[in-house]
Amino acid sequence: RAKAAGRNTLSFYEPGMDGIVADRTALERDLSNAVREGGFVLYYQPIINLAADRPCGFEALIRWPHPSRGMVSPMDFIPLAEDTGLIVPLGAWILQEACREAAGWPGDLRVSVNVSAVQFQKPGFEQAVIGALAAAGLAPQRLELEITESILIADAEAAITCLHRLRSLGVRIAMDDFGTGYSSLSYLRRFPFDKIKIDRSFIRDIADPDAAAIVKAIVGIGTQRGAVITAEGVETEEQLACVRQEGCSEVQGYYFSKPLPAQEALDFVRKPARAAA
Ligand code: C2E
Ligand code: MG
Ligand code: MG
Ligand code: MG
Repeated sequence: RAKAAGRNTLSFYEPGMDGIVADRTALERDLSNAVREGGFVLYYQPIINLAADRPCGFEALIRWPHPSRGMVSPMDFIPLAEDTGLIVPLGAWILQEACREAAGWPGDLRVSVNVSAVQFQKPGFEQAVIGALAAAGLAPQRLELEITESILIADAEAAITCLHRLRSLGVRIAMDDFGTGYSSLSYLRRFPFDKIKIDRSFIRDIADPDAAAIVKAIVGIGTQRGAVITAEGVETEEQLACVRQEGCSEVQGYYFSKPLPAQEALDFVRKPARAAA
């Protein structure tokens, strides 16, 4: 590899590098078009309340069916949308679409919407939430926003103020992927939230005593704060038994269901959950 010769070499050549740059430019153009033309869909993954043994809501997860690349993962295009600022119109669409869908669900089922830190920090975010609720006629209590610790990095004070305002509207706040961030546990004392979602990596390894101890600690702190604790990424009956034992009150994962198209999500509500099985 020419790269090994060092950065100062003029003959530096990395095969495929032009390809990567061109690819990113093309992807950016396609993303921009898709945002303008409404080329995305939301899938919905059930969240099961263990005590009630039924779904209490769904997490909206974005999908991008690309004409030539197939289904592009949000892990591949959300960061690009953040870099380009496209996350603002895209995020607004996600909020509107998720609220509109949830307004048609029976009972008090909630919709959880992932919010990127970039989107959260832009002025107008709160208005986008209020606007989406109003347009859909959805009660704020039925919307939950999933945020990560990363929103606290830029301006923790501003973030905390915004979270308080959203909660005073009745919107719920969930801390997503908890345990993977690098902010200190003391943030939890200042940070208003209703739910902690324990990251999938701890659930995957829950047979390991260290991972189980972390789950136990998160449940302890969260419960102390009056928060609901959700285990993410439950795939097996053994993992379900463990998280139940540790005191998680909600679970989400392939054991119950993968994310589903909107109509199939509704069908899922009408049949009993597998928690008791
Ligand atoms: P997340 O918010 O933590 O979402 C959970 C991810 O775990 C989803 O991946 C879901 O399909 C996957 N998952 C759920 N249960 C299981 C399981 O049992 N096993 C395994 N292996 N995976 C499971 P997905 O849909 O690919 O989304 C990945 C990430 O992309 C999300 O992580 C979230 O950070 C981001 N994302 C997805 N949709 C949106 C969106 O609408 N807006 C924003 N800002 N980010 C989004
Ligand atoms: Mg999430
Ligand atoms: Mg998560
Ligand atoms: Mg995650």
